[in-house]
Amino acid sequence: MRKDVEAVQRTTERRNNEDDAERLSEVVPQLATLSLQIEETDPENPNEDVAYVRHIVVGRAPALFVLPCTDRKCDGGHDFTKLVLGALKKQQATFEGQDACGGQAKEGPCSREMSFVASATYGD
Ligand SMILES: [Zn+2]
Repeated sequence: MRKDVEAVQRTTERRNNEDDAERLSEVVPQLATLSLQIEETDPENPNEDVAYVRHIVVGRAPALFVLPCTDRKCDGGHDFTKLVLGALKKQQATFEGQDACGGQAKEGPCSREMSFVASATYGD
């Protein structure tokens, strides 16, 4: 999935607007906890795999899931907002997603791919 420049710009704008965004607790009031186990791999540089867990502070997190590429020289990113919010609204306990970067890195198009596994719990 390759994103055009416009899509990347939209992503960047959205990131800048994080403070104005709707709160996650407003969009999915039942949500109690949420964490994302994120893995980023690069088929061209297998030694540069990145894995980390991101714990979302549900009480004050924006309803946005835009993750920048971990290559600092790359302008790309991953917008999982729609996927994550859709799953949370259905109160799914675990769900996952995957996205190719498609941004512009230093040496040409970025080949990195990000995938995540989300774990969520819900209250009343
Ligand atoms: Zn990238």
